[in-house]
Amino acid sequence: MSVSPSSPKRGLELHWQMAIGFVVGTVAGLLANFYFANAGWLETLTQYVTDPIGQLFLRLLFMLVIPLVFSALVLGVVEIGDPKSLGRIGLKTLLWILLVTTIAVTIGLVAVNLLQPGHGLPEAQRALLMEAGAQRGGEIVAKGQSNPSGIELLLNIVPKNPIAAAANGELISVMFFALMFGIGATVLRTPGVNTFVGACQGVYDICLRLIEWVIKLAPYAVAALLFSITAKLGFEVLVQLARFVGTVLLALGVHFFIVFPTLLWLFCRVSPLAFWRGAQPAILTSFSTSSSSATLPTSLMVAEERLGVPRQVARFVCTLGATANMNGTALFEGITVLFLAQFYGVHLGLGQQVMILVLCVFGAIGAAGVPGGSLPVIAMILAMFGIPPEGIGLILGVDRLLDMCRTTVNVTGDIVGSMVVAKGEPAHHEISVEEELRAGA
Ligand code: ASP
Repeated sequence: MSVSPSSPKRGLELHWQMAIGFVVGTVAGLLANFYFANAGWLETLTQYVTDPIGQLFLRLLFMLVIPLVFSALVLGVVEIGDPKSLGRIGLKTLLWILLVTTIAVTIGLVAVNLLQPGHGLPEAQRALLMEAGAQRGGEIVAKGQSNPSGIELLLNIVPKNPIAAAANGELISVMFFALMFGIGATVLRTPGVNTFVGACQGVYDICLRLIEWVIKLAPYAVAALLFSITAKLGFEVLVQLARFVGTVLLALGVHFFIVFPTLLWLFCRVSPLAFWRGAQPAILTSFSTSSSSATLPTSLMVAEERLGVPRQVARFVCTLGATANMNGTALFEGITVLFLAQFYGVHLGLGQQVMILVLCVFGAIGAAGVPGGSLPVIAMILAMFGIPPEGIGLILGVDRLLDMCRTTVNVTGDIVGSMVVAKGEPAHHEISVEEELRAGA
């Protein structure tokens, strides 16, 4: 393969590299498991080569999560909260984001609980896996024991010390702090505050660029992580993966084909077929780029020109939505966390699942609208619940397909949201998509 991280423009596209990494790592790991299951050199290889490569990739993702989430949320609130022009639209958008994202995560959590795609790994293999890192195993147990419950879970959302919360990876507390900071910045708007908001924009842009670089390492990390896992576990692990992909696609399908059309009909009386025909360019762009941000110009064009959404509403909702309204991502985060919990045999009670729901809603707001943008958030949530974050290596190899589908759901949610928010706004002329499309045809 002629591709190397230093020559990113040449050779295969990244998703093909990742697919190759997946196949190479998996096949090599399976062969090693089949022929040399108990060989000393295999253990040395995973311990000193493939495990550290995978860990390096995960650490690079972890490194970015706190600055990314903080800057994205501050910017999101500041953008929503400009009281002069967009107060009401902002509030409606916020309600839309919270409502539809919560529905999405709920669908994901119900699907993963019903279908249980992560269960079924023989006890001996699971034990082997957990045993692989004795130190981490200890941490997991300790974390499990110290997990707070009930009212404490809610109180912990408000950090006593935001720096300590960031240092301990308490993501939800950091998000709460960022939201409060954003609200403060919106109300004040002094020159000093504006400088701060500009700095947040800088931090956000830098994080996006760094994620782009880190994701380029993914093919190697995928190969290494998959090798480590399949060399230890053998063939069964692949069966688990097919069930995971099926669960994600089913839940995304429910959101895309049932929830969106229902909401569109309830709020706007627009038929799903007319909507899909109008939104088609954005749907195709998002599917092929796996990036909400890259699809933004197309979503704006579609909302304004093909679906009759007033320009200021389309600009506001679609722009903010490209980073803050990610229904598919939220759903995917929920399923992935629970799937890996099932896979590793980590039991999560109802309280913890509700906590995961809240984290996924905010995690989707904080995730970047780029390919693989949700991966750092997932890695962080996994660690918070004592689920080995290297399990993320399992899903990376099939992530491109899932990313394409969840980004399509993300972008469709933005466009539907702009139509719903536009309803009842003064500048809004009634949307009659069917007539407009018929006239345009
Ligand atoms: N690729 C997604 C988007 O741009 C984000 C993600 O879920 O990774 O919307």
